[in-house]
Amino acid sequence: MLKDNLNLVEENIEKACQRCGRSRQEVKLIAVSKTKPVSMIQEVYGEGVRDFGENKPQEIRDKYPEMPKDVKWHMIGHLQRNKIKYIIDKVCMIHSVDSVKLAEAIDEEAAKHGIVMPVLVEVNVAKEDTKYGIMPEEAEAFVRQISLLKHICVQGLMTIAPYTENAEENRIHFRNLKKLYVDIKDKNIDNVNMCNLSMGMTGDYEVAIEEGATMVRVGTGIFGERFYGLA
Ligand SMILES: *Cc1c(COP(=O)(O)O)cnc(C)c1O
Repeated sequence: MLKDNLNLVEENIEKACQRCGRSRQEVKLIAVSKTKPVSMIQEVYGEGVRDFGENKPQEIRDKYPEMPKDVKWHMIGHLQRNKIKYIIDKVCMIHSVDSVKLAEAIDEEAAKHGIVMPVLVEVNVAKEDTKYGIMPEEAEAFVRQISLLKHICVQGLMTIAPYTENAEENRIHFRNLKKLYVDIKDKNIDNVNMCNLSMGMTGDYEVAIEEGATMVRVGTGIFGERFYGLA
Protein backbone atom coordinates (compact mmCIF):
# COMPACT_ATOMS: atom_id res chain seq x y z
CA MET A 1 0.00 0.00 0.00
CA LEU A 2 2.76 2.42 0.93
CA LYS A 3 4.55 1.09 -2.12
CA ASP A 4 1.68 2.24 -4.33
CA ASN A 5 1.72 5.69 -2.72
CA LEU A 6 5.43 5.95 -3.21
CA ASN A 7 5.23 4.83 -6.83
CA LEU A 8 2.62 7.50 -7.52
CA VAL A 9 4.72 10.22 -5.88
CA GLU A 10 7.78 9.05 -7.81
CA GLU A 11 5.82 9.12 -11.07
CA ASN A 12 4.58 12.64 -10.32
CA ILE A 13 8.11 13.81 -9.54
CA GLU A 14 9.40 12.37 -12.80
CA LYS A 15 6.63 13.99 -14.80
CA ALA A 16 7.20 17.35 -13.13
CA CYS A 17 10.92 17.10 -13.92
CA GLN A 18 10.11 16.32 -17.55
CA ARG A 19 7.71 19.25 -17.84
CA CYS A 20 10.41 21.72 -16.90
CA GLY A 21 13.41 19.99 -18.47
CA ARG A 22 15.09 19.03 -15.23
CA SER A 23 16.81 15.77 -14.44
CA ARG A 24 15.23 13.53 -11.80
CA GLN A 25 18.60 13.48 -10.01
CA GLU A 26 18.28 17.19 -9.23
CA VAL A 27 15.33 16.55 -6.89
CA LYS A 28 15.60 14.70 -3.61
CA LEU A 29 12.46 13.15 -2.16
CA ILE A 30 12.30 13.42 1.62
CA ALA A 31 9.65 11.12 3.08
CA VAL A 32 8.13 12.95 6.03
CA SER A 33 7.51 10.27 8.62
CA LYS A 34 6.41 12.40 11.60
CA THR A 35 3.84 10.67 13.84
CA LYS A 36 4.28 7.43 11.85
CA PRO A 37 5.60 4.22 13.42
CA VAL A 38 8.95 2.66 12.64
CA SER A 39 7.20 -0.28 10.94
CA MET A 40 5.89 2.07 8.24
CA ILE A 41 9.24 3.81 7.90
CA GLN A 42 10.87 0.41 7.41
CA GLU A 43 8.40 -0.37 4.66
CA VAL A 44 9.30 2.81 2.81
CA TYR A 45 13.00 2.18 3.46
CA GLY A 46 12.48 -1.23 1.89
CA GLU A 47 11.39 0.51 -1.30
CA GLY A 48 14.71 2.30 -1.47
CA VAL A 49 13.98 5.62 0.23
CA ARG A 50 16.84 6.79 2.47
CA ASP A 51 15.89 10.38 3.30
CA PHE A 52 13.31 10.87 6.04
CA GLY A 53 12.01 14.09 7.57
CA GLU A 54 10.82 14.63 11.13
CA ASN A 55 9.69 17.76 12.93
CA LYS A 56 10.21 16.71 16.56
CA PRO A 57 13.66 16.10 18.03
CA GLN A 58 12.30 13.47 20.41
CA GLU A 59 10.86 11.51 17.51
CA ILE A 60 14.22 11.47 15.73
CA ARG A 61 15.91 10.43 18.95
CA ASP A 62 13.48 7.54 19.42
CA LYS A 63 13.37 6.32 15.81
CA TYR A 64 17.07 6.69 15.10
CA PRO A 65 18.26 3.52 16.88
CA GLU A 66 15.42 1.50 15.32
CA MET A 67 16.43 2.22 11.74
CA PRO A 68 19.50 1.24 9.67
CA LYS A 69 22.46 3.58 9.90
CA ASP A 70 22.32 4.65 6.27
CA VAL A 71 19.07 6.55 6.84
CA LYS A 72 19.50 10.28 6.38
CA TRP A 73 17.34 12.12 8.89
CA HIS A 74 16.29 15.66 8.12
CA MET A 75 15.11 17.98 10.87
CA ILE A 76 12.37 19.98 9.16
CA GLY A 77 10.35 21.44 12.02
CA HIS A 78 10.67 24.33 14.41
CA LEU A 79 13.58 23.60 16.72
CA GLN A 80 14.01 24.72 20.31
CA ARG A 81 17.56 25.40 21.40
CA ASN A 82 17.46 23.01 24.36
CA LYS A 83 16.52 20.11 22.05
CA ILE A 84 19.44 20.42 19.64
CA LYS A 85 21.51 18.03 21.71
CA TYR A 86 19.09 15.18 20.96
CA ILE A 87 19.67 15.36 17.23
CA ILE A 88 23.00 17.02 16.50
CA ASP A 89 24.78 13.70 15.89
CA LYS A 90 21.78 12.08 14.15
CA VAL A 91 20.63 14.41 11.39
CA CYS A 92 22.22 15.18 8.03
CA MET A 93 20.63 18.62 7.77
CA ILE A 94 18.53 21.10 9.75
CA HIS A 95 16.04 22.79 7.39
CA SER A 96 14.49 25.18 9.86
CA VAL A 97 17.03 27.74 11.04
CA ASP A 98 15.05 30.89 11.73
CA SER A 99 16.99 32.88 14.33
CA VAL A 100 20.56 33.87 15.07
CA LYS A 101 20.25 32.40 18.56
CA LEU A 102 19.23 29.03 17.14
CA ALA A 103 22.08 29.12 14.62
CA GLU A 104 24.54 29.94 17.42
CA ALA A 105 23.22 27.12 19.56
CA ILE A 106 23.50 24.62 16.68
CA ASP A 107 27.03 25.87 16.05
CA GLU A 108 27.92 25.31 19.68
CA GLU A 109 26.56 21.73 19.78
CA ALA A 110 28.19 20.91 16.43
CA ALA A 111 31.52 22.17 17.76
CA LYS A 112 31.24 19.79 20.72
CA HIS A 113 30.94 16.91 18.26
CA GLY A 114 33.64 18.23 15.96
CA ILE A 115 31.28 18.48 12.98
CA VAL A 116 29.95 21.12 10.60
CA MET A 117 26.17 20.91 10.39
CA PRO A 118 24.55 21.71 7.02
CA VAL A 119 21.59 24.04 7.55
CA LEU A 120 18.91 25.74 5.51
CA VAL A 121 17.42 29.10 6.35
CA GLU A 122 13.65 28.96 6.73
CA VAL A 123 12.04 31.87 4.91
CA ASN A 124 8.48 33.03 5.49
CA VAL A 125 8.16 33.75 1.81
CA ALA A 126 4.42 34.45 1.86
CA LYS A 127 4.78 36.63 4.98
CA GLU A 128 2.13 34.75 6.92
CA ASP A 129 1.59 35.91 10.52
CA THR A 130 1.35 32.35 11.75
CA LYS A 131 4.56 31.03 10.25
CA TYR A 132 8.10 30.80 11.51
CA GLY A 133 10.87 31.96 9.25
CA ILE A 134 12.94 34.94 8.26
CA MET A 135 11.26 37.63 6.20
CA PRO A 136 12.51 37.55 2.59
CA GLU A 137 14.00 41.05 2.72
CA GLU A 138 16.03 40.09 5.79
CA ALA A 139 17.29 36.79 4.45
CA GLU A 140 20.57 37.94 2.90
CA ALA A 141 21.69 39.83 6.00
CA PHE A 142 20.69 36.84 8.10
CA VAL A 143 22.72 34.45 5.93
CA ARG A 144 25.73 36.80 6.13
CA GLN A 145 25.47 36.97 9.88
CA ILE A 146 25.26 33.22 10.53
CA SER A 147 27.85 32.45 7.84
CA LEU A 148 30.46 33.60 10.38
CA LEU A 149 29.73 30.55 12.55
CA LYS A 150 32.36 27.88 11.88
CA HIS A 151 30.40 24.75 12.76
CA ILE A 152 27.39 25.32 10.56
CA CYS A 153 27.28 25.73 6.79
CA VAL A 154 24.34 27.43 5.11
CA GLN A 155 23.41 25.29 2.13
CA GLY A 156 20.22 26.93 0.94
CA LEU A 157 16.70 28.02 1.77
CA MET A 158 13.54 26.30 2.91
CA THR A 159 9.93 27.38 3.07
CA ILE A 160 6.59 26.03 4.18
CA ALA A 161 4.16 27.50 1.69
CA PRO A 162 0.62 28.50 2.72
CA TYR A 163 -1.97 25.79 3.05
CA THR A 164 -4.13 25.83 -0.06
CA GLU A 165 -6.40 23.53 -2.03
CA ASN A 166 -4.94 24.94 -5.23
CA ALA A 167 -1.22 24.35 -5.63
CA GLU A 168 -1.02 26.96 -8.39
CA GLU A 169 -1.57 29.63 -5.76
CA ASN A 170 1.80 28.74 -4.28
CA ARG A 171 3.69 29.00 -7.56
CA ILE A 172 4.46 32.66 -6.96
CA HIS A 173 5.87 31.90 -3.51
CA PHE A 174 8.11 29.14 -4.86
CA ARG A 175 9.25 31.42 -7.67
CA ASN A 176 10.04 34.19 -5.20
CA LEU A 177 12.03 31.84 -2.98
CA LYS A 178 14.02 30.64 -6.01
CA LYS A 179 14.80 34.27 -6.91
CA LEU A 180 15.96 34.99 -3.40
CA TYR A 181 18.08 31.84 -3.47
CA VAL A 182 19.76 32.86 -6.73
CA ASP A 183 20.33 36.41 -5.45
CA ILE A 184 22.08 35.14 -2.33
CA LYS A 185 24.00 32.49 -4.27
CA ASP A 186 25.29 35.20 -6.63
CA LYS A 187 26.79 37.08 -3.68
CA ASN A 188 29.32 34.25 -3.15
CA ILE A 189 29.37 34.69 0.60
CA ASP A 190 32.25 32.91 2.37
CA ASN A 191 31.29 29.66 4.11
CA VAL A 192 27.92 29.61 2.30
CA ASN A 193 27.22 26.96 -0.31
CA MET A 194 23.82 27.64 -1.82
CA CYS A 195 22.82 24.35 -3.41
CA ASN A 196 19.48 23.40 -1.85
CA LEU A 197 15.98 24.73 -2.16
CA SER A 198 13.68 22.77 0.14
CA MET A 199 10.10 23.51 -0.88
CA GLY A 200 6.94 21.63 -1.77
CA MET A 201 4.81 19.24 0.30
CA THR A 202 2.09 16.73 -0.61
CA GLY A 203 -0.27 19.39 -1.94
CA ASP A 204 2.19 21.30 -4.07
CA TYR A 205 5.45 19.43 -4.65
CA GLU A 206 4.99 19.22 -8.41
CA VAL A 207 4.63 22.99 -8.73
CA ALA A 208 7.63 23.42 -6.40
CA ILE A 209 9.73 21.18 -8.67
CA GLU A 210 8.67 23.20 -11.72
CA GLU A 211 9.89 26.29 -9.87
CA GLY A 212 13.26 24.82 -8.92
CA ALA A 213 12.93 22.77 -5.71
CA THR A 214 15.91 20.48 -5.08
CA MET A 215 14.23 18.86 -2.06
CA VAL A 216 10.54 18.08 -1.67
CA ARG A 217 9.12 17.02 1.69
CA VAL A 218 6.23 14.62 1.21
CA GLY A 219 4.40 13.13 4.19
CA THR A 220 0.70 12.46 3.58
CA GLY A 221 1.27 11.49 -0.06
CA ILE A 222 3.45 8.57 1.07
CA PHE A 223 2.31 7.63 4.57
CA GLY A 224 -1.35 8.70 4.40
CA GLU A 225 -3.17 11.08 6.70
CA ARG A 226 -1.76 11.84 10.11
CA PHE A 227 -3.94 11.43 13.18
CA TYR A 228 -3.16 13.53 16.20
CA GLY A 229 -4.39 13.11 19.73
CA LEU A 230 -6.38 9.91 19.31
CA ALA A 231 -4.01 7.75 21.33
C1 LIG B 1 4.54 17.76 7.94
C2 LIG B 1 5.50 18.52 7.12
C3 LIG B 1 5.65 18.25 5.75
C4 LIG B 1 4.85 17.19 4.99
O1 LIG B 1 3.52 17.58 4.88
P1 LIG B 1 2.50 16.77 3.95
O2 LIG B 1 1.47 17.78 3.58
O3 LIG B 1 1.95 15.67 4.79
O4 LIG B 1 3.25 16.27 2.80
C5 LIG B 1 6.61 18.96 5.05
N1 LIG B 1 7.36 19.91 5.64
C6 LIG B 1 7.23 20.21 6.96
C7 LIG B 1 8.11 21.25 7.55
C8 LIG B 1 6.31 19.52 7.72
O5 LIG B 1 6.19 19.83 9.03
